[in-house]
Amino acid sequence: MAERAIGKPDYEKELRRAGIRMTRPRRIIVNILSETEDHPDALEIFRRAVALDSSISLSTVYRTMKLLQGIGAIHRHAFEGGPSRFEQAGGDHHDHLIDIETGDVIEFKSERIETLQNEIARALGYTIVHHRLELYGRKLRRKG
Ligand SMILES: [Zn+2]
Repeated sequence: MAERAIGKPDYEKELRRAGIRMTRPRRIIVNILSETEDHPDALEIFRRAVALDSSISLSTVYRTMKLLQGIGAIHRHAFEGGPSRFEQAGGDHHDHLIDIETGDVIEFKSERIETLQNEIARALGYTIVHHRLELYGRKLRRKG
């Protein structure tokens, strides 16, 4: 959307539009989400939030994530072998590679894959409205 900076959704505006009150814990949590570059799980968001305000509970974090997901402000990823991880919505489309040893999530985008997916869908008589691609990998060891 034109009015928002790339990758930085205006959560406050989206919450207000959805008729949801911006409380102090919610503000802290949305600030964490809009500043993070990684894909934290709820526990990690809780750890960061509680460092800023010790009165924030894990259930507040869970409720807030549900709320933000409900209005489409964040994406929840159910990557294999771990808890749900979150990232802000509104950024450019990308896919994810998950390091199965460290749990690191690496973002990538391939025009070749995007094109190929469209070709496959078209051949099957479909147009893609949404897709998720997850690669699970182990880091190559350098020789020597
Ligand atoms: Zn991502």
